[in-house]
Amino acid sequence: MKIQDMQKKENKLSFKIIDSDISFVNALRRIVIESVPVLAIDIVEFSKNDSVLYDEIIAHRFGLVPLKTDLKTFKLREECSCNGKGCNKCSVKLKLSVKDREVFSSDLKSKGVDIVYDMPIVNLMPEQELELVAEAKLGVGKEHVKFVPGLVWHTYDTENEITFNIESWGQIEPKEIFTSAVNIFDKKLKEFDKAISKL
Ligand SMILES: [Zn+2]
Repeated sequence: MKIQDMQKKENKLSFKIIDSDISFVNALRRIVIESVPVLAIDIVEFSKNDSVLYDEIIAHRFGLVPLKTDLKTFKLREECSCNGKGCNKCSVKLKLSVKDREVFSSDLKSKGVDIVYDMPIVNLMPEQELELVAEAKLGVGKEHVKFVPGLVWHTYDTENEITFNIESWGQIEPKEIFTSAVNIFDKKLKEFDKAISKL
């Protein structure tokens, strides 16, 4: 197998995979969607919400805000030493307090994570206030679509040279999305091999 014609532009990466087949490349595509982890807001506790939107709608909007993810720092909660209780290795808290103006994703303040894009959330009228604490955790796409790291697809031409494309939403770099998928695939195959050897 060879990789050729790698092209990177902003959050997009594409390359040709030679001497492979669609089933293998599609397995990698599915692993990107289902198993490459990124951070996303999972719980929002409101102390004030005078806006026209229900708590649930605002929480849903915050859940879709892309958060810069350092995979060397964070672990999946089920693999963390806190045994799923939640700690600073698997989750991070963000605070927000805004009054009398439009609320943006950049109003979320945290020491542990950066916001990728400044996105509008809700417009507050005079005397209206929004105050909350959000908790983001590392998760995977098979749990919720907010944890999918980007768009991934493949095409192939008449000579069956498969082109693999990744467009990151900004949480992690497209190359890291691909290398993470390869590492997860490798881990799954080793677990499968170990299981078979016990038969
Ligand atoms: Zn933990």
